[in-house]
Amino acid sequence: MALKWFKKKKNTKPADVSVQTEDATEKMAALPVSESEPASHHEDGETVPPSEDSRTDPIPADFGSLNADAAFSPAVEKDRATLFSRLKSGLSKTRQILTTDIDELFLGKKLVDDDMLEVLEERLITADMGVQTTLAIMDKLSGKRSRIADANALKDALKAEILTCFENLPELSASDKTKPHVVMVVGVNGVGKTTTIGKLAARESRNGKKVLIAAADTFRAAAIEQISIWAKRAGADIVRHKDNADPAAVAYDGVDAAISRGADIVFVDTAGRLHTKVNLMEEIRKIQRTLAKRLSGAPHEVLLVLDATTGQNALAQAKMFDEALGVTGIALTKLDGTAKGGIVVSICDTLKIPLNYIGVGEGVDDLQLFDANRFVDALFQG
Ligand code: GDP
Ligand code: MG
Repeated sequence: MALKWFKKKKNTKPADVSVQTEDATEKMAALPVSESEPASHHEDGETVPPSEDSRTDPIPADFGSLNADAAFSPAVEKDRATLFSRLKSGLSKTRQILTTDIDELFLGKKLVDDDMLEVLEERLITADMGVQTTLAIMDKLSGKRSRIADANALKDALKAEILTCFENLPELSASDKTKPHVVMVVGVNGVGKTTTIGKLAARESRNGKKVLIAAADTFRAAAIEQISIWAKRAGADIVRHKDNADPAAVAYDGVDAAISRGADIVFVDTAGRLHTKVNLMEEIRKIQRTLAKRLSGAPHEVLLVLDATTGQNALAQAKMFDEALGVTGIALTKLDGTAKGGIVVSICDTLKIPLNYIGVGEGVDDLQLFDANRFVDALFQG
């Protein structure tokens, strides 16, 4: 078993939880939003209903289980193909790392040798599968080496081993019948919380649900404007206060408004950093407690957003948020354009939290329900 490369790297410092410095709200102008004129200033607690013409973005038909009835229609098949090709192009950099060398490695050889395994191991680590997961995969591959005679067989064996990392995944939390269903969305700055809420709100709205968004990231006015634009294009109501308002109060008012208007689902946007010196986790826990005060059982979901480009650091973030809040599901964004797609395998293999969604772009239809088979196919299909 070739562990030379890993041993060399073993003493590198562990991932620490860092917060991205770039402020994403400033990039809002570049987002693919057609009606991007800023909303006018709203007084405390004012809510803004969706505009009539705001539901224009196509949501892939098999995005969510709500479309199960239509599962075999030709239109859905076409959407599936689109989803797969989007995923494939999103994963192209990771795929390159994992697969390119395998063909070269086998040139002029008939058996898997130690050098080959060593290179492969390095590739898995480079793709951010994590040391623990990589070693487990390599161990099993090594045991099968005598039966692997060409590059394709090696790819198939690797694919099979990666797929086993997705076995025994925790069940997605069953969406209960509570109305409104409250989803608190958390994560460090810049990971894609607001964008993910926008995409989810559009999907729910498209499926006939009445959606309300609570703009509880009150760090800056721009953050509130950003979520307002997403709410408008998703056809969702929004509850917003002034910037620097108490986030817990916004969350409370959001659920309050959702109850009185009969909304089906509430997404609570939260900050990844704060204008005060209050600890971020304490602040978010306060939001969590306040939601429960207004509606017993809320929040029904705590969705943690992680950025795939941060690689193993995402795991450290997951542990931190899970300890503080009890995370029920993960949305992993920015898989497009990163060579660190192996983080998906690492997350599923090491965390006991379901990976619900993956983000493969900035557009409204660039969020997919995570499907292990589709993911692994996209990772290996050239
Ligand atoms: P927040 O601070 O967690 O709310 O992050 P934002 O939702 O504001 O997103 C930060 C940046 O990441 C924005 O420029 C988004 O367009 C971008 N982003 C979010 N999700 C994705 C994704 O899946 N792929 C790509 N390429 N960009 C994304
Ligand atoms: Mg945000």
